[in-house]
Amino acid sequence: MTVTLLPPISYGVGRYDADPLAEGPRYVRTGGMSRWHRPRSGVQYPDARTVYTVWCGQHVGGLCRAATTLTADTVTDGLPVCATCDGRAVGAGQEPDGPAGRTLTFGPRDITPPRHCPGSRTPLFEAMPGNTTGRCLACQDVHPTRAMGGPYAPRHAITQHRPGARLFAPCPFHAWRHPRLNEGRLACVCGRPLTAPQ
Ligand SMILES: [Zn+2]
Ligand SMILES: [Zn+2]
Ligand SMILES: [Zn+2]
Repeated sequence: MTVTLLPPISYGVGRYDADPLAEGPRYVRTGGMSRWHRPRSGVQYPDARTVYTVWCGQHVGGLCRAATTLTADTVTDGLPVCATCDGRAVGAGQEPDGPAGRTLTFGPRDITPPRHCPGSRTPLFEAMPGNTTGRCLACQDVHPTRAMGGPYAPRHAITQHRPGARLFAPCPFHAWRHPRLNEGRLACVCGRPLTAPQ
C-alpha cells in the first residue's frame, strides 16, 4: 500500500535533475535510524536514487551509500514511530487513522497559492497601450504599473495584487516562489516552464 506524496517543495533553488514522486511507502527509515518516519515527498534522481523528505524535516535515502532505505506498510519490528511525522501525516490528511477519539489537523504551508501574486512589484509584466498598466505574466490580470525601488535601484513594476484566476501552475520543487523570464517566457529558477493550469 502506498500513500500520496506532496510536491517536494524546497527552499533551495536547485534539484532540477530529479523527478517528483506522486506516491511513496507509508513508513521509511534508514538502517541506522531508531524510529520509523512518514514520507511527505520524494524525488527520484536520474541514477535511480530515491530520497524521501519525511514530515519531521529529515531526509531518508540515497545521498550516502551506507544509508539503506527501509520501507514498510505497517510497523512490525517493534521500533517506535516518529510522533511528529505520524501527527502531521494524519493531520494533513495523508493518513486516515489518528489516535482514537481525536481529530488531528496540520496545514502544510507552501501548497496553497500565495496571498499576493508572485508577479507583484516585479517587472514581470507586458506593458499595455498607454504604458500605465500591464498584463501580469504570472497570472494574466491587468494592473497599474509604476516606478518602484528608489533612486539606487529603480525599476518599472506592476503593483501588488491578488493572484488572478490564471496564476501559473506551481513548480513541484519551488511552488510559486521563483518565477522569472527565460528567453522571454515565464520559467522557474530551476528552468521548468511555468504555464497556467490546463
Ligand atoms: Zn519523523
Ligand atoms: Zn499577477
Ligand atoms: Zn522550480
